[in-house]
Amino acid sequence: MFENLSDRLGGVFDRLTKQGALSEDDVTAAMREVRVALLEADVSLPVARGFVKSVTAKATGSAVTKSVTPGQQVVKIVHDELIKVLQGEDAPEALRIDNPPAPILMVGLQGSGKTTTTAKLAKRLKDREKKRVLMASLDTNRPAAMEQLAILGQQIGVDTLPIVPGESAVQIAKRAKQQASLGGYDVYMLDTAGRLHIDQVLMDEVQAVRDIATPRETLLVVDGLTGQDAVNVATEFDAKVGVSGVVLTRMDGDGRGGAALSMRAVTGKPIRFVGLGEKMDALEGFDAQRIAGRILG
Ligand code: GDP
Repeated sequence: MFENLSDRLGGVFDRLTKQGALSEDDVTAAMREVRVALLEADVSLPVARGFVKSVTAKATGSAVTKSVTPGQQVVKIVHDELIKVLQGEDAPEALRIDNPPAPILMVGLQGSGKTTTTAKLAKRLKDREKKRVLMASLDTNRPAAMEQLAILGQQIGVDTLPIVPGESAVQIAKRAKQQASLGGYDVYMLDTAGRLHIDQVLMDEVQAVRDIATPRETLLVVDGLTGQDAVNVATEFDAKVGVSGVVLTRMDGDGRGGAALSMRAVTGKPIRFVGLGEKMDALEGFDAQRIAGRILG
């Protein structure tokens, strides 16, 4: 995901660390290259600008330029700033899924990987946290999507709410809530319908479902390959339905990584998980340290 960015930054920092003594001009020139590399990775302009400004302010102080290993100090500053951009000031807390049955609302555009992610997360909660999970598909327009969730549920050993043809999304949400209580589930996950683009009908439906379920977590699934578009989708969903966290899918692909770097800074919403493939285990908790490590190689 970050290969190009990683290569570009690697080149800049190699030169800096080999150079020995560093002047402020050297740092400024290097940061100009970092800015270009970030923009090419599809990081949003204000984020790239803010990043470079902050690193430059810290790296041009005499404590750095006059130190014995100035290049390495700059790399350390970049590393720390990357973590700040990726996760804000603090790593996110655990998902709020105490008080059973805890509802998790899954939202996102069609094709973002929402249904796959719903099942992956259900499996993770079952395997790691020993939660009893119930999944329900609310995609009444696409019977195939409802079937898909049922099939995934069977694969991973997680129950799905039986499909009742003709029900509305709100009716399904009510039934899921009831079934989760009666059946003694710890968590129930509502896989809402997606659309190709954000539209009012979709948002009205998600809002109606949200009002029934009062979710503690509303997780937005977005395609990490789409860079700044992913961030725009997150901004819109958050404005319309309120989002508590983001899942970036397809981070195994050869996208440019900008979505991961801009998401928190632009939307204020934490990235919770990253999808790293089609398999049911290909979901990783978001770890800013690890991502910064990957970016800096
Ligand atoms: P939905 O329309 O948002 O529910 O999307 P789906 O869950 O049906 O996913 C669409 C396609 O993307 C499927 O072929 C998934 O296997 C694939 N997919 C989902 N997440 C990932 C991921 O993290 N990496 C890769 N490579 N493919 C993914």
